[in-house]
Amino acid sequence: MADFTPVLLTRAGHTTPFSVSEYISHGGYSALEKAVTMTGEEILKELTAARLMGRGGAGYPVDKKWRHLYGVEGGPKYVVCNADEGEPGTFKDRVLLEQDPLSVIEGMTIAGYLFGSPRGFIYIRGEYRDLQPLFERAVKHAHRFGYLGKNILGVEGFDFDITVVAGGGAYICGENSAMLNSIEGKVGRPRVKPPHLAEVGLYGKPTLVNNVESFAAVVPILNMGGDAYHALGTEFSGGTKLVSLCGHVKRPGTYEVPLGTPIRAIIEDWGGGTDSGRAVGFCQLGGHSGPIGFPEQLDTPYCYKAAKDAGLGIGSGSIVVMDEDVDPVAYLQKVMEFFVHESCGKCTPCRLGTTRMLELLTAFVEDRAVPGDVERLESLADNIAMLSSCGLGQSADKAVKSCLKHRRAAFEAHIVLKGGVS
Ligand code: SF4
Repeated sequence: MADFTPVLLTRAGHTTPFSVSEYISHGGYSALEKAVTMTGEEILKELTAARLMGRGGAGYPVDKKWRHLYGVEGGPKYVVCNADEGEPGTFKDRVLLEQDPLSVIEGMTIAGYLFGSPRGFIYIRGEYRDLQPLFERAVKHAHRFGYLGKNILGVEGFDFDITVVAGGGAYICGENSAMLNSIEGKVGRPRVKPPHLAEVGLYGKPTLVNNVESFAAVVPILNMGGDAYHALGTEFSGGTKLVSLCGHVKRPGTYEVPLGTPIRAIIEDWGGGTDSGRAVGFCQLGGHSGPIGFPEQLDTPYCYKAAKDAGLGIGSGSIVVMDEDVDPVAYLQKVMEFFVHESCGKCTPCRLGTTRMLELLTAFVEDRAVPGDVERLESLADNIAMLSSCGLGQSADKAVKSCLKHRRAAFEAHIVLKGGVS
């Protein structure tokens, strides 16, 4: 931990966030300057070498997404930054938006150059209302210094602008297609796919959608080269990752860690262990859409592949730690309240299924559950995940199922047997 030099949070807290001159004096805009001397294929090659997995939640390889759009005929092509950071416990994009917005703007502008895009959009979640004027100010400054607008860096025809769009505060608008609908002024509900957004995206045009941290990561990748960036992480997950660490830890906050760091080290070394001094009981990884991890799994490397293989995940990049005094079933009840509240209501399995799961979890917490309820809960979780049409419903099962797998006894302890004996 001590020897590690961050590549994403190098400027955060050290510069005036909207100041282009300070950004440049701290190495800013060198990646864009490099990009305009490169061919499209050369830029894509660096991304492929970097093994950058999308930092929004799904972990889809960024180079594949960029290559897909690059190969699509027609236009205009749009570049959209998803800053609807709505997963509970997740606040790492906020740090970039607040403390280094120009790195996000630079990453988006590199994409704008590659795709010949006239315009980018950044959709900032409604709850980050305070960040919207700040980001607009950074955009304005980039304009003033010629890093946005017409003939950027003196390159004839390199015209790119960024529009800041304010979200309304709905979690579902963090789903990429729902977000595009919301930008278009429609109801923020997910679209049926296919078609892929790279083909039919914003206003029906080919569109790239990436997360805040993904765009910001493009900057060090071009600066240091894809291979060097990749070497910071693991074979399957290149680079570093911002982690929102919170819950029962001594030092909650946003940390940049090399991918491959054991989860336990993130909690103990970065977070200082539990604030109560008690042992870790469990943690949830990747907002409420992610699985629960238990102490015996915490030596797993924080890496997209290793975490997945261990039944864990990285998702939105949060780790919410709970000490051993917390009942995981009571925690799950709160998780399910969130899904019930945020379901957009379009599909029945998600709308009603999450409500039924919440009823069952409440029965467990209130010691009213009866034999068979564990199986009912499991079956509901399976069906919601299988039959829901978007990522919200498809992930509403993860926390419950991981807990059922590793701590079934925690549910059974709440069951009241017929006759009132528990
Ligand atoms: Fe809406 Fe849930 Fe269906 Fe997603 S899965 S479209 S959130 S009802």
